[in-house]
Amino acid sequence: MNLPYTTYSEYLAGLFGPGKVQKISVNAGYGCPNRDGTIGRGGCTYCSNASFTPGYCLEGDSSVAAQIARGKEFFARKYPDMRYLAYFQSYTSTFTSRGDELQRMYEEALAQPGIVGLVIGTRPDCLPGNVLEVIGEFARRVPVIVELGAESSHDRTLRRVNRGHTWSRVEEAVATLRAAGARPGLHLIAGLPGEGEEEVLQTVERACALAIDTIKMHQLQIIKGTPLHKQWLAGESDTEEWDVERYMRLCVKIIKQVPRRIAIERFLASAPPGMVASPSWGMKNHEFTARLHRLLRP
Ligand code: SF4
Repeated sequence: MNLPYTTYSEYLAGLFGPGKVQKISVNAGYGCPNRDGTIGRGGCTYCSNASFTPGYCLEGDSSVAAQIARGKEFFARKYPDMRYLAYFQSYTSTFTSRGDELQRMYEEALAQPGIVGLVIGTRPDCLPGNVLEVIGEFARRVPVIVELGAESSHDRTLRRVNRGHTWSRVEEAVATLRAAGARPGLHLIAGLPGEGEEEVLQTVERACALAIDTIKMHQLQIIKGTPLHKQWLAGESDTEEWDVERYMRLCVKIIKQVPRRIAIERFLASAPPGMVASPSWGMKNHEFTARLHRLLRP
């Protein structure tokens, strides 16, 4: 089906040629500056790292090579010819002053058979000069995609969810990463406290004005035990109740806004159902995408 947007697999095919390329999550072992007091305390009000860390990352052995081996074992059963991206995902994976340590981990990742590039998840305010240098050095060798947690372009919302950075910080980080040769992408959340459709579309519009390669989008999930969950239980979260059809219609509008040069990686988060207080759509990412694609048919 000819879709009216660039999918993430099309984007990866543009970088690596035809054939499947899969991200394997790697935990670099760093924490989060928005939790330990470096930037803030308590973290973003919606954050539960366990909800987006795959099971193969939770086991004891923490070497990069061992994590990649486990990830490959997980995926290779289905697709033996798969190539992989090492995805440094957990918490803030550049939260270190040790550029040499990052360098060693990225080298270790690229030394594993089948690894063709790096994906680095981080905050826009966690890219000091030595980290950028290392990213730039690897970006000269392989594609390096840097996923920045931006979430919203509205500073009011960013304050409210305790993000600890502003939208202008996101704009700066995108420009600096691009200058270093990396491929920046933004992670955005729809339905944050105080936000409706209009605010989300404004954020997408502002994101599309930046030199990004990708947008990774998902609906807000209220994860049990988070500060947001407590606010929600007390009726103080100021979040709108979205049903899946309404969110899907918003995704159609988003797709119309995003130019072809930017790939959209995903639209849905699906944390384990037992962890989610709201919304309970009971839908997997591939089911949502299939329904969305049917809606996009002319
Ligand atoms: S979402 Fe990211 S920046 Fe926010 S508390 Fe969680 S790990 Fe830290």
